Amino acid sequence: MVTRLYREDDANLSLLTRKRIALIGYGNLGRPVALNLRDSGLRLLVGNLEDIYAERARTDGFEVLTIDQAAQRANVLWMLVPDEVMPRVYLEMISPSLKKGDTLVFASGYNVAFGFIEPPTFVDVIMVAPRMIGAGVRESYLDGRGFLSFVGVERDASGQAMATALALAKGIGSLRAGAMPLTFEQEAELDLFVQQGFMAALYQLLNTAISVLVDRGYPPEAACAELYFSGELAFIFEKVAQVGVLEQAQAHSLTSRYGVLSRYERFAEPKIRRQMEAILEEIRSGAFAQGWTSEYNSGYPNLRELMDRFARWPAWHAEDRTLKLLAGENDGEREDDTRPGRA
Ligand code: NDP
Repeated sequence: MVTRLYREDDANLSLLTRKRIALIGYGNLGRPVALNLRDSGLRLLVGNLEDIYAERARTDGFEVLTIDQAAQRANVLWMLVPDEVMPRVYLEMISPSLKKGDTLVFASGYNVAFGFIEPPTFVDVIMVAPRMIGAGVRESYLDGRGFLSFVGVERDASGQAMATALALAKGIGSLRAGAMPLTFEQEAELDLFVQQGFMAALYQLLNTAISVLVDRGYPPEAACAELYFSGELAFIFEKVAQVGVLEQAQAHSLTSRYGVLSRYERFAEPKIRRQMEAILEEIRSGAFAQGWTSEYNSGYPNLRELMDRFARWPAWHAEDRTLKLLAGENDGEREDDTRPGRA
């Protein structure tokens, strides 16, 4: 099934000029979204707790209200607080003020898809989910490239829900690159799968590669540099994003191509596929989301422990030293007991 791609011509920004838009949250994504919408000529206000994020929004020139005041004042409410805190914010500060004709906007399908937020039937529920981190949302607005988003409609009470989603996507600059339609469930599941079924495996691969090299006597700084600090890997992925894996592979030497293609099937390990399928199943069944909610409710005890263990992986021990070396700040002197694979 081939999906479609919405572009600038598919959206009408003037649909939003009659609306009162409030962004709830002014963090990693909230701030870039606010600045882009304003630069696109839209008026908006920010709803936030009274702290440094609120101060920052005021310094940037936005009117800042408490979240419940913003919810009362606006009729397009874009939820831009962290996913795990969003259900409580919604229940206590947003839902009491919702009126017929309001639109609830999400930058991730997560809370609606897993049933943590159940909006009333009389509001539009839409998704504009950038496939880009907040800093990139602002940067690619300013340089005119735009960025890909997923857009979706969970409920179309007004008959205009998709038009509103597309207008917002245009306002933040996404439609210069395009927006694909997706359901809230699909967006949430894809997003979590890339984190858990791909990034997790990538960390393990990096860890194993560094440990193999260092155990065979290669300098850890050279191993880190070869793998990622040189920027070669990042450049390759940048090219993959532009032309695809197949076309990008043509840019490598024949030695490299022969080496990669004659060896990659050795890594076609059925266990990896089984793990990916199991991870996807945990996501789709809601088991991951339930576990994450319990984790949040109990103050992140497991996350703290996991972050601590991750920071102690020997593979990363040479990173600070390598960065300093590359910046010309030291001569690469090191103590052997901090070498990756030796702890
Ligand atoms: P952030 O962690 O950056 O959000 C910070 C904002 O949330 C601040 O305004 C903060 O204000 C507010 N906030 C945090 N805790 C609370 C609380 N308990 N009560 C009220 N407000 C709170 O979130 P992101 O920008 O990373 O994510 C926002 C949404 O965007 C999520 O749905 C996420 O999935 C989605 N998204 C994020 C991307 C990104 O690049 N980060 C990319 C694509 C989608 P204060 O601390 O003052 O309360």
